[in-house]
Amino acid sequence: MSPAHPRSVVAQAPGKINLGLWVGPADDTGFHPLLTAFQAVDLWEIVTLTEAPSLGISCAGSVDCSGVPLGPGNIAWKAVERVASARGESGSTSMSIAIEKNVPVAGGMAGGSADAAATLLALQQFSQPPLDYSQIVAIAAELGSDVPFSLQGGSAIGRGRGVDLTAVLPQQPLHLVVVPATFELSTAEVYRQFDGEGRSAPLATELPEGFLDAWLAGDATRLAPLLHNDLEAPACRLQPQLVTTLHDVHAAGALRAMVSGSGPTVLGFANDAEHAQTIAQQLGRRGYSPIVTQTVIHPNEQSPQQTTDTV
Ligand code: ATP
Repeated sequence: MSPAHPRSVVAQAPGKINLGLWVGPADDTGFHPLLTAFQAVDLWEIVTLTEAPSLGISCAGSVDCSGVPLGPGNIAWKAVERVASARGESGSTSMSIAIEKNVPVAGGMAGGSADAAATLLALQQFSQPPLDYSQIVAIAAELGSDVPFSLQGGSAIGRGRGVDLTAVLPQQPLHLVVVPATFELSTAEVYRQFDGEGRSAPLATELPEGFLDAWLAGDATRLAPLLHNDLEAPACRLQPQLVTTLHDVHAAGALRAMVSGSGPTVLGFANDAEHAQTIAQQLGRRGYSPIVTQTVIHPNEQSPQQTTDTV
């Protein structure tokens, strides 16, 4: 008789962009409160957990994975350990974590957070008895400020530490190109630069006039001038090459070019899918490697696929 097939669970979570990102002055703990328009994009991190003799992790996919730690520094690994400790399990956890990575690494698109979210969704099924979803959400918030949104997906207004999420339901997707950078930019350094610029305006609590309506309608023309990123200027000061990329994306015909989160990925917004393809072709001719995608307007399906059969 052939040996039992290892039990596997597969789950996925999307990368995100911030259509709007307003950053407040750091609080006593050094944390910057945010007002942000979180939006999932159609680039998915797929995580497969499989029973294995010990805890291990691998990463491969459509983007360069060379910057991804393959050990305890990986946020997916931390998610597994955090869940084991919440369940009171002592000793090492035995499973392999296989990440299929489709979100540019360290690009301000929360690929690592999506890995953590997908791992938590898979663990929910993998653990017996299954974990309560509220426990999963609490662990997500501890793992990182983008992880609760990655778990939820779709579209949401985030406030404070990113844990306070108000889901919104756009009627139509937006089309865009994602332009990964060939250089790195540290999120912590971008925030330090932001702090150094001494902007102390209090953080707004609501999106600007017209933003939500344009977002809900998927109206790229109306939304383009309202898109906003408080981290764009500090990121550009640290990496002036970003200014060139923004200029090139705009020159390729984008309605609006914008740095994604803390960068260094740049986004170019389009009228429709065909327009996004045209922008990507132009950028390709200039030596960029753009990814054409669209926003995902439905929340994540909380239904990881499970393989329990023996073969
Ligand atoms: P952040 O804004 O939180 O810095 P990001 O969205 O810009 O994140 P990520 O792809 O999430 O970028 O990775 C940020 C850093 O986290 C990487 O440079 C890497 O060292 C580390 N890291 C840990 N786990 C992962 C993971 N599963 N995938 C990618 N990077 C990871």
